[in-house]
Amino acid sequence: MKALVFGSLNIDHVYQLPHFVRPGETISSSAYQRNTGGKGLNQAVALARAGMEVWMAGGVGQDGLFLKDALEAEQVNASLVALSDTPTGHAIIQVDQQGDNAIVLFGGANQCVTGALIHQALAPFAPGDLILLQNEINLVPEIIRQAKERGLSVALNPSPASPEMSAWPLEQVDWLILNEVEGRDLTAQTDPQGILDALLVRYPNCRVVLTLGEDGAFYADRTCRCFQPAFHVKATDTTAAGDTFTGYFLTAALSGHSPQASLRTAACAAAMAVCRPGASASIPMAAEVLAHLSAQA
Ligand code: ADP
Repeated sequence: MKALVFGSLNIDHVYQLPHFVRPGETISSSAYQRNTGGKGLNQAVALARAGMEVWMAGGVGQDGLFLKDALEAEQVNASLVALSDTPTGHAIIQVDQQGDNAIVLFGGANQCVTGALIHQALAPFAPGDLILLQNEINLVPEIIRQAKERGLSVALNPSPASPEMSAWPLEQVDWLILNEVEGRDLTAQTDPQGILDALLVRYPNCRVVLTLGEDGAFYADRTCRCFQPAFHVKATDTTAAGDTFTGYFLTAALSGHSPQASLRTAACAAAMAVCRPGASASIPMAAEVLAHLSAQA
């Protein structure tokens, strides 16, 4: 089985500032870092580090070719990442002295997905393979439909939530992995059980994973519901917690582990990620996660 992540690749420009820039103000940054980012890229790295064979599809401009190299260095096949005339998607991230952030996002090449790219990207995949999608590229509903027609197993992390999502063909999604905010947006319910109930009434064939940050995560399908508390750690940077969880959960579940065991592996990997700085850089390797899990057993 192979996995295709069809999603965003971003350049994250991170500036350390005494405070967020105010209207009309110019301030100097004391430090600057250029990082790889985008939920698509992060989740491709998470699946690969968890042990899956991964391909990535999406778009970058000339300025983002290094993102393809970064994926290849993680053993992710980046040959389906198209070169676009539009600049690469990027985020301008201000970090103030308290560690809070303020972000400007530019979709760029992530919003230039075409019908031709969808056709080309799905061609190497066969029934039983997995496609994983998020909400940072255009044409997601079209990709869901065509992937399902080819017999792929479709996983969606509907993040960041947007109002158009309720019109997407979510009944064709096999795995829905979302956080509480996205769950509330999709169902208008506020508590976890209400969100899960509403999603399963609407999409009875879907397997749903609802993550609740440091309050843990639920798995639910038509016949089974289980809960995994978060591992107790001192979090320093929660960026990519959800991306790590998604990659590890799907890899475990699709290699035959039970929902409960898959939640546990994913929670362990995500807890390790929140103790380390950075986005994809913070995602642990499978061997580290296994060592941690067996030390706990
Ligand atoms: P997202 O990043 O998509 O908002 P969550 O915040 O729900 O996702 O986090 C996903 C998972 O990561 C949680 O279910 C939990 O297992 C783990 N996690 C997140 N924050 C923490 C934390 N502070 N301590 C331990 N684990 C955490």
